[in-house]
Amino acid sequence: MFERRTTRGIMVGKVAVGGGAPITVQSMTITKTADVEGTLQQIYALAAAGCDIVRCTCNEQAAAEGLAQIVPRSPIPIIADIHHQYKMALAAMDAGVHGLRLNPGNIRKPEHIRAVASEARDRNISIRIGVNGGSLDPELYERHGGLTASAMVESAMRELAYFQEVDFDLVKISVKASNVPLMVEAYRMLSEVTDVPLHLGVTEAGPLPGGYLKATAGIATLLLEGIGDTIRYSLTADPVEEARAGRQLLEALGLRERKNVDLIACPSCGRAEIDVIDVANRAQAAFADRKLPLQIAVMGCVVNGPGEAREADLGIAAGNKRGHLFVKGRNVAVVPESEMVESLVEWAEFIHEHGTDAAIARADTVLAEREAARDRAKAIDDKGEDANHDHDRIVEIRKTVAGQ
Ligand code: SF4
Repeated sequence: MFERRTTRGIMVGKVAVGGGAPITVQSMTITKTADVEGTLQQIYALAAAGCDIVRCTCNEQAAAEGLAQIVPRSPIPIIADIHHQYKMALAAMDAGVHGLRLNPGNIRKPEHIRAVASEARDRNISIRIGVNGGSLDPELYERHGGLTASAMVESAMRELAYFQEVDFDLVKISVKASNVPLMVEAYRMLSEVTDVPLHLGVTEAGPLPGGYLKATAGIATLLLEGIGDTIRYSLTADPVEEARAGRQLLEALGLRERKNVDLIACPSCGRAEIDVIDVANRAQAAFADRKLPLQIAVMGCVVNGPGEAREADLGIAAGNKRGHLFVKGRNVAVVPESEMVESLVEWAEFIHEHGTDAAIARADTVLAEREAARDRAKAIDDKGEDANHDHDRIVEIRKTVAGQ
């Protein structure tokens, strides 16, 4: 669909980043890293929600000691987040982490940077150069006249040069900002000057739903330009939401194989015969933890629903107090309105196990289509061809304008 920029491939533990590998989802724990059991519980929840790589803060000796116990029990690679204290980077490597994140804005002594990179090189541990608009090196801030894309890119490239001095190249880079256009500009600029894999994110995107919007605007824009190898939603929310959002975005863009239900639903309108919002929400909750790689539609009326969602693997449309189930656009069953969600779940599980052809084959499609046609005719009879009357209105508007 769109060409991805070619980057160097690196490994973070057993997970490949860049070099054409599938784009990965990252998140960060919000527990104290010294709380080993609490942190592991969160890591398992993140992994179940689609997180591929997780970051934990390593801000004190107790955190590094916690990491030594967490790393061997984690189902996904662990990255230690380091600010200010380069010694914490060395301690995290002793703990066995698979990667580090260094902030060039607050570890600035070249000898410290080189010491960490040399150790990482010897241990085959990757490092992310994590430039953050909010903690940019003051000297760069001054020289560039404020926070600019070029200042962030210069910060990253300067750090990269220190790494190159000690022959360390297991690197990825991020240039995050909370301002979306600035972040997009910085990543575009960076992708022109290096083939190092890029970690995308809008920093401090904030609470939901604004956080989703800002993070998606920045990350999706770049992904659609072929830029980006790994992503993180930085939300002020349970980190499981970050993992879910990252995974959903990649599935929606066709950048990761579908593992979860893609629930589509009509926005409802004057023709709807059910509370579409309520049924769609209940369907979403029912499918939230079921790993079914299917597109499932909830449509408010049988007049337009089955046709508009004919590409869905499975769908349901309301009509005359009944739910009309359809598979790949073929009517397969009629169920009471109160059982719409339960029926969707049952048919989805059958399709997942046996496929859509088997689902159509087990149905009495002739009877189901006859019932749907009857309810469709009744709805049209009750509400007219178009409940919104938009066509009639357009004809009136044209007559009015032509008469002037
Ligand atoms: S016409 Fe039917 S399917 Fe389309 S938005 Fe209205 S209720 Fe939903």
